[in-house]
Amino acid sequence: MTKGTINVSVENIFPLIKKFLYSDHEIFLRELISNATDATSKLKYLSNTGEAKIKLDNLQIEVKIDKDGKKLHIIDQGIGMTKDEVEKYINEVAFSGAEEFLDKYKDAEDSGIIGHFGLGFYSAFMVADTVEIITKSYKDEDAVHWSCDGSPNYTLKKAKKKEHGTEIILHIADDSTEFLEEAKIRELLLKYNKFMPVPIKFGTKEINDPNFTPKTTKDKDGKETTEPHKQITVDNIINNPTPAWTKKPTELKDEDYNAFYRELYPMQFEEPLFNIHLNVDYPFNLTGILYFPKLTKDFNIQKDKIQLYQNQVFVTDNVEGIVPEFLQMLRGVIDSPDIPLNVSRSYLQADGAVKKIASYITRKVADKLNSLFKNNRKDFEAKWDDIKMVIEYGMLSEEKFFEKAEKFALYPTVDGEYFTFEELTEKIKASQTDKDDKMVVLYASNKDEQHSYIEAAKAKGYEVLLLDSPIVSHLIQKLEGSKEKISFARVDADHIDNLIKKDDTVISKLSDEEKTTLDSLLKAVIPSEKFTVQLEAMDSNAAPFMITQPEFMRRMKEMQATGGGGMFMGNMPEMYNLVVNTNNDLVNEILHTKTKKKQERLINQGLDLAKLSQGLLKGEALTSFIKRSYEMIK
Ligand code: ADP
Repeated sequence: MTKGTINVSVENIFPLIKKFLYSDHEIFLRELISNATDATSKLKYLSNTGEAKIKLDNLQIEVKIDKDGKKLHIIDQGIGMTKDEVEKYINEVAFSGAEEFLDKYKDAEDSGIIGHFGLGFYSAFMVADTVEIITKSYKDEDAVHWSCDGSPNYTLKKAKKKEHGTEIILHIADDSTEFLEEAKIRELLLKYNKFMPVPIKFGTKEINDPNFTPKTTKDKDGKETTEPHKQITVDNIINNPTPAWTKKPTELKDEDYNAFYRELYPMQFEEPLFNIHLNVDYPFNLTGILYFPKLTKDFNIQKDKIQLYQNQVFVTDNVEGIVPEFLQMLRGVIDSPDIPLNVSRSYLQADGAVKKIASYITRKVADKLNSLFKNNRKDFEAKWDDIKMVIEYGMLSEEKFFEKAEKFALYPTVDGEYFTFEELTEKIKASQTDKDDKMVVLYASNKDEQHSYIEAAKAKGYEVLLLDSPIVSHLIQKLEGSKEKISFARVDADHIDNLIKKDDTVISKLSDEEKTTLDSLLKAVIPSEKFTVQLEAMDSNAAPFMITQPEFMRRMKEMQATGGGGMFMGNMPEMYNLVVNTNNDLVNEILHTKTKKKQERLINQGLDLAKLSQGLLKGEALTSFIKRSYEMIK
């Protein structure tokens, strides 16, 4: 037996390991299973090249709990280590690796990051006070037994192990007994190792014997009975070593993608809308599958997020900095050995390789959307409501995506027709260009609330879009900025003749003097802190009173409410215009009514009706409107 002392330069590494990464203790299992996987892959490689003359059948890793003995075993059938290798790799390489790691990160605050980065073999000491290694190399050498009790001293002796591979035995410390619970270990295996490339056995399970067909017999009354199925005990393999993203897209059908989605998110019952298979090996390595989920309104609180893997080992589901923000609403997996995880997130964002990854993903998503649009436009239109949030957000936040989305971003009308921007401008060019040669795109945000305004626009033969995403004001602002001579106006931003000004002026039935009288009559009744009276000579059939809210003000307020916008409009009181049609008969009647009381009543009634059609009449005002209306029809 050899006794030795690990060459410690960090004062005492073991207590440090234990104290360290407090919240991340659980990663020890991921680290040890990664080592076991590496050892297995190496042996497979050596066997393939003929260097190791070993028959490999079904190499697997086993995780075993010995609750009474307070031990956790991780057993692999990989290349194993010789005595010299243990001394070199465990006592020196692994140790100095851990030492270096701790030295580097002992002051780090962002322990979330550290958890992504392996502390390696010595992370075992986060949960164990003694660790044993029993290992036999695939080479023809004696097995060895290494043991270390958490002091820098270790022992190394011969062991009896016959088969190649390594068994790590953790004597779980008293403060870490949760890692002796089957449920806990299962949870960790499913979290970190669900898709690792080597099968991982965790206990056994009973299944129906596939080679047994239960017999059915009939008794004398003709009643059938089937004998019970024969059960057999098999290894419980906890992982899927060949997850969908490691396969070629040509090998996979839609069902396979959907089945993998359910495997990733067992609690998700809704099918994804479509998927994007990522696969590149130059200038960086990256594979994965992204899914467009049906987004619910509360997309902010989604917890089924994109998962990041490194060679099939789960790393994190925080892909901030790697996946562009607008695509973080998607689901799925990304697997890349090229993403540096041992650095802080701010560094990550500046990293060249990572930037390339983000732009690759953006491009792939745009290409996929484009091909979906081109190949099956009807289907794409049907899905638009569920995907528009991602697309619109992408158009706002990524210039490259904005350019690409030009081809497939849709602008639906209130009547359920879908246009691309190009198709839209082609359609409305002739009718919706105003006298200053500016094209005005009309839109509504709510078909019901803005019904009367939509109707007024449609009566003129105009198209009205239905743009109802929460970020639409930002998008409109951006579209206006990127196009020449185009502006957007919500249908209730002004009277329709003012929204798209044409040369033909409507002649006013009122003289200037009458207008002045009317103006003061109205102002005496209408609260000036809420409404600005705006007299307009319009078509006599157009409504006498109409409430509008100027586009600019409203849009700025909306933009501010949904983040950004730049102007401080948030605290401004709601201001509306009251458009009064001086050519309407009712207005004429108001002007010529003799009794003050009736005049007032007509104005109030008119104002209330206008409020009603904007959805602004509520509470006490609504009650008194109803009362007044009954009196008027009595
Ligand atoms: P890393 O895996 O990053 O190299 P570790 O500290 O986890 O660092 O392990 C150090 C070395 O110990 C490994 O590189 C490997 O040579 C050896 N080793 C660890 N675990 C095993 C194992 N299960 N089988 C064979 N060799 C192992």
